[in-house]
Amino acid sequence: MRHPIIMGNWKMNGSLTANAALLDALLPVVEGLGSIEIVICPPFPYLSQAGSRLRRNGIALGAQTLSEYGAGAYTGEVSAAMLKDLGCRYVLVGHSERRSLNGERDSDIAQQLAAAKAEGLVPVLCVGESLEERQGGETRAVVGRQIEAVIDALGIDSMLGSVVAYEPVWAIGTGETASPEQAQEVHAYIRGLVARRSAVIAERLPLLYGGSVKADNAAALFAQPDIDGGLVGGASLDAAAFCRICRAA
Ligand code: PEP
Repeated sequence: MRHPIIMGNWKMNGSLTANAALLDALLPVVEGLGSIEIVICPPFPYLSQAGSRLRRNGIALGAQTLSEYGAGAYTGEVSAAMLKDLGCRYVLVGHSERRSLNGERDSDIAQQLAAAKAEGLVPVLCVGESLEERQGGETRAVVGRQIEAVIDALGIDSMLGSVVAYEPVWAIGTGETASPEQAQEVHAYIRGLVARRSAVIAERLPLLYGGSVKADNAAALFAQPDIDGGLVGGASLDAAAFCRICRAA
């Protein structure tokens, strides 16, 4: 019932030339993988460039963040309607780098998720604990708080048509990956948490794992029953590695 989803988060990397080379190497390989949803999230200035290439190859376009506001005096911000206009289908909300570097709070993230849904975008709510929190036995409490902040603000229906990405902060960009068992344990917890409000929504909710997903650890992660795909940072900039990750799904 849940289709695998693999998302590439390019973060603040790329140039017109480098993106063209990456897409040239990537698209002919991944366009044949019809049963999985592949999503590329370039930086804002390259959404048009990537979007026009991806559309022709059946790959979805995503953005890395958005404003909670619709329009107006918010210098530097980008609205959900603008992302829609440029052909985005997905948008990340609450990535740990946005939480830590830009001070985004659970309440801001809930409003971003609402703004995305109001425009018909699929929000990908990113949650995860720091190393200190994991070592302190707080993983469930942290992840639970991040998800419940959204559900409490917007209702359980906000999870319908959304995606959740579990990304332990200690595994992002560090080369450290959660073991398949560690990741599955948190994914099962998240699905159970949502199921307490709605079993139907929990069963439909795609749960992605992110945090140093690589070509050689992807298959074991994606084999877990509650892991429905991956959110891939560093390895999405390497066409060969990203293709292997997509094939593993
Ligand atoms: C990410 O940016 O969401 C991510 C998981 O990065 P990396 O794969 O590089 O750890």
